[in-house]
Amino acid sequence: MKKTKATEHRCGLCGKTGRLWQTECCGNWICDDEHKYKLFSFARNSCSRNHRRYTLCALHFDEGHDGNWKDCSKCREKLETEMYVWYGTNEYNFEKLPNPPSFTPTRCAQCGVVIKLGTGGYAWKGGKYECQTCSEKELAKLLGDATRSRGRGKGRGGRA
Ligand SMILES: [Zn+2]
Ligand SMILES: [Zn+2]
Ligand SMILES: [Zn+2]
Ligand SMILES: [Zn+2]
Repeated sequence: MKKTKATEHRCGLCGKTGRLWQTECCGNWICDDEHKYKLFSFARNSCSRNHRRYTLCALHFDEGHDGNWKDCSKCREKLETEMYVWYGTNEYNFEKLPNPPSFTPTRCAQCGVVIKLGTGGYAWKGGKYECQTCSEKELAKLLGDATRSRGRGKGRGGRA
């Protein structure tokens, strides 16, 4: 019934023409590419999926909040500030959050490197964040220590 002329629009995120559709949440043209996504692959190669999963715009729409996502207090409360800012300003947005609140960056509990919650590559352990490097090291250590007796306290990064 509906005939879409695919050539006249461009995806608002990546600029491609081709198979596009309009997002439910904001009516922008976007690649109709969710079929490319492999389940559990965690790939972020689908414009459509990225917008649907990782933006305030879509979250706001899905949750049925009133008003505009940019000044929605429910969205704000729902997410940690860092995630809220990331959801509102990442490249999957057509429009970005105008005045993102400031937040203290999350740091690795072991080495102190700044962790970007939005982009992944970290582990959540015992109420603390660890960067990928540290969590891999830790894992290797655990495996290595398994044969030896435990009892050495966790190193705090300093070595004599
Ligand atoms: Zn696209
Ligand atoms: Zn949207
Ligand atoms: Zn909202
Ligand atoms: Zn670390």
